[in-house]
Formats: sequence, structure tokens, C-alpha cells
Amino acid sequence: MSDPPPFKVLVVGAGIGGLALGVMLERANMNYEILEKHPYHNPLGSAICLAPSVLPLFKQLGLDVELKAMSKPFGSLVFREENMEIIGSYSSRTPVDIKERYGEYCQVIARKDLCALLYNNIPQGKIKFGKRVLDIRQNMGEVIVQCADKSVHHADILVGADGAYSAVRQALHSDLEAKGLLPKPDLTPLGYQYDCLVGVTAPLDPHRHSTLFDKFSELQTVVSKDTTQTHWCIPLTGNRMSWMVVRGHDKGRKYAEDQIFKQSDWGEDAAEVMSYQYRELKTPYSCELGYLMDKTPKGFMAKVMLEEKYYKTWYGGRVVLTGDACHKVVPFGGQGANQAILDMVALMNLLVDLNSNTVPEIECIFEKYFKLRSPVGRSSVEVSNRLGGMMNRKGKFNDFVRRLILRHVPRWFSLMVNDRLSYDRPQLEFLPFVEIEGTLKPKEQTRSTYVPMVPQDPKINGPILLH
Ligand SMILES: Cc1cc2nc3c(=O)[nH]c(=O)nc-3n(C[C@H](O)[C@H](O)[C@H](O)COP(=O)(O)OP(=O)(O)OC[C@H]3O[C@@H](n4cnc5c(N)ncnc54)[C@H](O)[C@@H]3O)c2cc1C
Repeated sequence: MSDPPPFKVLVVGAGIGGLALGVMLERANMNYEILEKHPYHNPLGSAICLAPSVLPLFKQLGLDVELKAMSKPFGSLVFREENMEIIGSYSSRTPVDIKERYGEYCQVIARKDLCALLYNNIPQGKIKFGKRVLDIRQNMGEVIVQCADKSVHHADILVGADGAYSAVRQALHSDLEAKGLLPKPDLTPLGYQYDCLVGVTAPLDPHRHSTLFDKFSELQTVVSKDTTQTHWCIPLTGNRMSWMVVRGHDKGRKYAEDQIFKQSDWGEDAAEVMSYQYRELKTPYSCELGYLMDKTPKGFMAKVMLEEKYYKTWYGGRVVLTGDACHKVVPFGGQGANQAILDMVALMNLLVDLNSNTVPEIECIFEKYFKLRSPVGRSSVEVSNRLGGMMNRKGKFNDFVRRLILRHVPRWFSLMVNDRLSYDRPQLEFLPFVEIEGTLKPKEQTRSTYVPMVPQDPKINGPILLH
């Protein structure tokens, strides 16, 4: 067993990436703190589809049983016209059985539930709420973070897990820009093409919506013919339904830049105003979307902007970026949460072997992290962009292409894409490895020499139990 590495990690953002990193830092018995701008833990959103590539991590952390109780395995994705005619579908069981090949099906979970699962595995007090990070300074000895409430935080390493409008990225990039070290593409604003309204209903009557009885979650996507719009319905556990409307705003760059300047996420009122436009959209469940909206508890609906951009610069000195802060994807490929979690696994596996807190050694591990993760980050932005275009572009030609793709994707092609996405199923190298099932063997990993000491609670003479 080893002493914790001699440095403090400060994480900005308690979204999926920040919370996942918090659980890993806790298991590594490392010194850390998380700063979150919201005054309390209340994540919004629709559903997250956790891929086979991240599920071994949950098993390794001992969270797999709870995760599976809170989620449904992904069964299929069905694309429909507005009149509910099926355009095409993708199944996780035929022609390739995903579980047989990669050991696990994707698990469909409410974003709120996933955040709660991670949050409950971080001790109280480690996450500081109401801490909107405004300013970051760093020198050879430390990094200093200032929040809107005037509190100041010091650390050896700063991890930006603060999403698309990352304050950490803005501070890091403006520092590098002033030194003439920022590549030009990093200066252009995020591409913002879609607005999105998301929600999760309270429990519904499964006798009225029999899809809720199914063990597998069948995702339904309705493609509108004349507008750049799709709406989605996703059955969840607990007889709940998650729903989402995505609308291309088509208003050009100026509008996008103004919106980004004004607001990156809207409050409850904006969500309600947006909802009025979509209440009459049909769903495959003999009800309109307005019915699902009415069944959504107040405060469980959110309007969010959907942006995309791959940044070339992920680190500098003691600061490193992760997740949406450096590779923001639109949600059509289901990549955002998965890639944020995979970033954290890669970063953690390097952090535990860092024995010094000098800038050159820290930058050396950040460079390794960047080399490992940036090709995946770049390709997930590109693939999600293409999928978004395929689903949302209008016109006869695009309609034809969409049908062709959805009906006639050859088996070898989907196998190749899935194999690429699922080959790397990484685990934490400082914890005992778990067995990964499936006929496609995962990329090999080597054990770390770091073995964390489990913190003991003197009151119960055993490991500290979490809230
Ligand atoms: C409201 C919302 C709803 C979403 N819904 C869905 C969905 O339904 N389906 C889906 O696939 N993906 C959804 N996503 C996106 C998905 O969660 C992310 O793509 C993915 O989890 C990447 O996670 P991340 O940790 O990098 O960023 P995020 O999950 O966006 O987390 C960033 C965190 O940083 C905090 N933060 C931001 N700025 C600061 C600051 N200056 N100081 C301190 N804290 C800060 C934010 O409050 C947030 O908690 C949603 C994101 C949001 C924000």
C-alpha cells in the first residue's frame, strides 16, 4: 500500500465528468476538492446511454449492480416520420448481439440518476456548491482559483470539467493567447446550431404505455419533414419516460454568437416558453408530447444549447481540460458522457503515478493524456456532427440518403464502427481488474504500482462509509 501522491487536485464542475473523477480520486485516496457553480446538487437533462466501453469501470468501482437497477439495457433505436411510419431502425440484439460481442449492452439512464449515483459515492464536504469559478492564475508553485463569492482556492493541479462554456478553458486559452501560443482554431467560438428541450416524466401508467413494461429500452426518434427538428422518447426505469426536442435554429452565426454571449443555459421560464411550440407533436404512444410535458414535474424540464467544437489545446502548466470543456459534441451519437468518463479514467491512471508536483513533470503526464484522448475526442465531435446532419437535414435528397442509411447499413459496417468504439474498455490501473466478457477482447492494460490505502473510520474500526 502507498501513501497518497503529494499534491492536491482541484476539479471545476460537478457534472458527469467531474463527479466520475471525484469517485476515482476518492478510491485512490487522493487529496482533492470539487467546485460547482450551482448552489446545490440538482442536475437536469434527459437520458444518457452508457456504452460498453465505460461499464467495466462501474463494475470495478462496485457500482454496477446499482447502475443496472437504475437503468435499462438499450434495445433499439427506431426512426419514424411524423405520421409514425417507420423509416428504419438499429437494434442492439440483431444482426450483432452487443452483449455477446462486448460483454455488456449500453445502459440507458436518466442523467439525474447517473449524477446521483456518482454524487452519493463522494463524501459530503468534498464538493463545494455555489462556487462559480471566475479567475485562474498559476505560477511555478501552485494554481490559484477565484470564485464569484470571492473565495480563493489553491491546488497543485486544476482539472477543468466545467462543460461547454468552461471558465477554466477560457482562462487557460487567454493566458496562452497572450503569449502567442494558442492555435488560431481555438479562438473561434463554439459551433451552435441547435436548441434543445429535455425532460423526464414522473412515473406513468405502464398499462397505458406498454413499452414501459419492456426490459429493454426502445428509443423512438421522430424526424420532421419540413423543419430541422427531431423529437425523442426514451423509456426509463421506474415507469418514467425521458423526452427531448432538438431544433436547428438556422439563424446564422451572428444570432449564435449573441446567444452564447447572453446565456449558456436557460432557466425554467425559457423551458416553459419553448415547450408551448412543441406540445402538439405526435409520439408513438398514442399521445402528444404535451401529455409527457404535463407529466414532467416542475423544475425537471430544461432548455439547453447544443454546441460542438474540438479544441486543439487541452493543457498548459498545472491546468488540464476534460470532457465537454475540450471536445463538445452534439448528443446524436450518445458520446458526451461516455467520452467525459473515459477522459477521467485516462487522466487518473496517469495521475496516480505522478510523484512530484513540479510543472515539467505535471505537463509530461498531461501530454500523455492528450496523446491518448485527443484522437478520440476529435473523432467523436466529427461523428456526432455527421449523425446530427443525417438526422436533421431537410430536402428530398437528404430524405433519400437518410432512408438509404437507416434501411441498408451493411452488417460489416456497423460491426466495424462498434468494434472501434468498444475495443478500448479501460479500467483503473490502481484497483484490482475485473473480468471483461464478450468475444471481442479489449485493449490490454498494465497494472499500476500504486495501491491506495483505504481511509479508515476509527468509530467503526473499518472503511469510511459514505452518505
Ligand atoms: C443541463 C444539461 C442537460 C444535459 N442533458 C443531456 C442529455 O439529456 N443527454 C445527453 O446525452 N447529454 C446531456 N447533457 C450533456 C452531457 O451531460 C455532457 O455532454 C457530458 O456529461 C460531459 O460532461 P462534462 O462533465 O464534461 O460537462 P457537464 O456535464 O456539462 O458538467 C459541467 C459542470 O460544470 C459546472 N460549471 C460550469 N461552469 C462552471 C464554473 N465557472 N464554475 C464552477 N462550475 C461550473 C456546471 O454547472 C456543470 O455541473 C446535458 C448537459 C447539461 C449541462
